Amino acid sequence: MTSTDPDCLFCKIVAGDIPADIVRESEHTIAFRDINAQAPTHVLVIPKRHEPDIGSLAAADPDAALALLHEARAIADTEGNGTYRLVFNTGADANQTVFHCHGHVLAGRSMGWPPG
Ligand code: 5GP
Ligand code: ZN
Repeated sequence: MTSTDPDCLFCKIVAGDIPADIVRESEHTIAFRDINAQAPTHVLVIPKRHEPDIGSLAAADPDAALALLHEARAIADTEGNGTYRLVFNTGADANQTVFHCHGHVLAGRSMGWPPG
């Protein structure tokens, strides 16, 4: 059973109530371009169900969490050479601003380490 939050921005994108540049869709996920891209490829992969972060998604719906990982790789394979960074900002101190699980797929440029 799918859970949604009527006040959640990304649930509204899943529902089609807010437009997004959707690049992929699967049974459990959608992927769309970040509105404030930080790399030539910057796609957000999200579960259709509302869960606040990747840990809670993995606990509640392992199939959806696994699907999210597969989709992230597929985006990197489609848009680049398979080199990518997959980031889950988790919690306010880690700069999570939207509390609907999302993986940032970043690709298309060299990246530094450690992250800021
Ligand atoms: P966080 O900071 O939670 O890890 O990432 C949230 C991301 O969502 C940010 O990179 C931000 O640019 C993106 N974002 C916020 N609002 C929208 C929106 O309405 N549409 C799209 N496509 N991206 C959004
Ligand atoms: Zn949501």
